Amino acid sequence: MELRVRALESLLVEKGYVDPPALDVLIETYEKQVGPRNGAAVVARAWSDPAFMQALRDDATAAIASMGFTGRQGEHMVAVENTPDTHNMVVCTLCSCYPWPVLGLPPAWYKSPAYRSRAVIEPRSVLGEFGVTLSGETAIRVWDSTAEVRYLVVPRRPEGTEGMDEADLACLVTRDSMVGTGLALTPEEARARGLLA
Ligand code: FE
Repeated sequence: MELRVRALESLLVEKGYVDPPALDVLIETYEKQVGPRNGAAVVARAWSDPAFMQALRDDATAAIASMGFTGRQGEHMVAVENTPDTHNMVVCTLCSCYPWPVLGLPPAWYKSPAYRSRAVIEPRSVLGEFGVTLSGETAIRVWDSTAEVRYLVVPRRPEGTEGMDEADLACLVTRDSMVGTGLALTPEEARARGLLA
């Protein structure tokens, strides 16, 4: 596969269809500057500010853009909120559609055929493999991303975080928790990982 990609890339460059320096700038931007910290800031604000949470429910694209996060693959965002009754999980069964402006580039597992098929067939088992065990009372809702719509999961706010400010709350919000294959960290878990002072 790597060889095929390289062959394809050199052909595209040779024929003048892609400009390698321009490609490097794009990749560098999404690898280094845009990433899950953006999404974490969105979730932390939603947890802290009910008006912002409502704005996110009403029009996630606009609410997210108001924090300065816009761009390719983030044009039509929908925020899905986890509750005690419902856990949301995101997949792209067709390919690997992913909300770049808030989460950066997708991880390898998100693009794997196994995740893309099993997330819809047996979401509870897949969650178990990610270390997430939900109560039997909690329904799992799987959202299939398309070229038109990208989803951002708003994980549940962990208990014991009442006094925390947005910056600290954002440290609890992992990439996986915003795809729905993880939960937000407790302050203890975040401290153990060195993510929170
Ligand atoms: Fe896709």
